[in-house]
Amino acid sequence: MADPVQPAPLPAESGTLRLFLALWPDAATRDALNRNGKWLHRHWGGRRMRADTLHITLAFLGATPVDKLDAAVACADAVEGEPYELLLDQAGYWRHNRIGWLGASETPPQHAELVEALNAQLRAADFPVDERPHVPHVTLLRKSDGGEVPECRPVRWPMREFVLVKSVTEPDSARYEVMRRWVLARVGEWVGGELG
Ligand code: ATP
Ligand code: MG
Repeated sequence: MADPVQPAPLPAESGTLRLFLALWPDAATRDALNRNGKWLHRHWGGRRMRADTLHITLAFLGATPVDKLDAAVACADAVEGEPYELLLDQAGYWRHNRIGWLGASETPPQHAELVEALNAQLRAADFPVDERPHVPHVTLLRKSDGGEVPECRPVRWPMREFVLVKSVTEPDSARYEVMRRWVLARVGEWVGGELG
């Protein structure tokens, strides 16, 4: 019989959420990204990311105590991004983590500003943000061997929003849940809510 004074051990990460801010594709963009994933997989092998997981990470918050969720949301609330278009036109491979990805040969200023603004807010709110230079990319393959870089069909991705995502670790991969969305509005554009 279980000892009643001995509480059940809590999972090590209980009370935290694994969070990141990301760009999440619309259906047409997701299909185009996924086609590139299939193409790249034929060349480089590895494990393809499921279509419904494809995204670009803007800022990685990592294990976040549940009671800091409001602070994370406030960071995103404070950022006013503008809509833009990202042209993903080149495949890339990182040897250190064996990831195959699709990236942009040119980063639009609105993208760089969005990444910088979000990370600045998070830093000011004492979130331990990643200080490595940001490379906009969609991970398409994991555990891939890489190889000669094949020509890819460029994906034109219209950015209209960014999202807060919860990453749930499962036995063989992560599952992502979009928790909140923020619209990227043109200056002066009304995006809903109370006027006045
Ligand atoms: P797993 O780690 O379980 O293999 P995953 O890498 O897809 O799965 P997470 O580790 O939760 O899931 O990462 C979520 C997103 O954040 C991914 O796009 C990942 O590349 C990115 N990411 C993870 N760690 C960092 C980090 N230290 N700095 C920046 N981005 C990160
Ligand atoms: Mg990871």
